[in-house]
Amino acid sequence: MQNTEDEFYAWLRSVASNRTTLRLGIGDDAAVVDIAGTDCVVTSDLLAEGVHFEADTGDFMLVGRKALAVNLSDLAAMAATPVAVTVSLLLNKRQGMRAAKNLISGMSPLAAAHEVALAGGDTNSWDGATIVSVTALGRLEGEPLTRAGARPGDAILVTGTLGGSILGKHLQFDPRVREAIALRSDFEIHAAIDISDGLALDLSRMASASQVGVEIELAHIPISAAAYELASANSNGKSALERALSDGEDFELLLAVPPADAQRICEQGVLGIDVTNIGRFTVARELYRIDEQGKRRPLEVEGYTHGL
Ligand SMILES: [Mg+2]
Repeated sequence: MQNTEDEFYAWLRSVASNRTTLRLGIGDDAAVVDIAGTDCVVTSDLLAEGVHFEADTGDFMLVGRKALAVNLSDLAAMAATPVAVTVSLLLNKRQGMRAAKNLISGMSPLAAAHEVALAGGDTNSWDGATIVSVTALGRLEGEPLTRAGARPGDAILVTGTLGGSILGKHLQFDPRVREAIALRSDFEIHAAIDISDGLALDLSRMASASQVGVEIELAHIPISAAAYELASANSNGKSALERALSDGEDFELLLAVPPADAQRICEQGVLGIDVTNIGRFTVARELYRIDEQGKRRPLEVEGYTHGL
């Protein structure tokens, strides 16, 4: 899937119309559009019944919250401040207005917490699956933070802990909007991405976009309690570390930061959230993992062949 998806994006970039008002186009966490001299950050994500949630078991309020949160997470990855969202609903007729109200009610507290206006959208119904699509708009202080700015020698930092989000975090996570903005205002941050598809895959995307390589220290990766819980239940034979490397939907921030700033950030954390240094970016455009014995091996990126 990832191969296909990334191939599609490459094709899309080759055919998409471009304008000088498009400051940052397809391929990052969000786009940046110049509107009358002001940068507007825009991103869009959808959740579909049968793909991302099930109508019979899913809690539509949590689905609504998540539909907003994934968009806010993409704005966070640009260090953008959310301003407004539009919400488009394609509802299954049997679920009707009740589902619609639950979806919106689930979004509202998170929208309020981030002072985001619900500016509009569209609603339709049909006999098929329910789909919720959110488009979020944000503003920037200064230049956009992209995934393409990592430099050799930069430390690789991650917020929070990783792995096992399926146990609940994938629905209840806090998008790291304030954390990203605080880090951006107090420190030199070269690049950022939100971890939506797993640490290894999203790190490989940042390395590819930045034209650098990486070395990660496996012993330093902050593994979540949920990852340990799933590993001990041995649900699919994956270790807690493997889960931290490859599980998706943690929505933590992955950052490229010069070493001196990285040390200060890790010492103090950000807004009560731990930040961990897990390795470094390198000149050689290859991906490596260093184990506890100091042995260096290629980092395998599950489901994705990186094109470095
Ligand atoms: Mg993203």
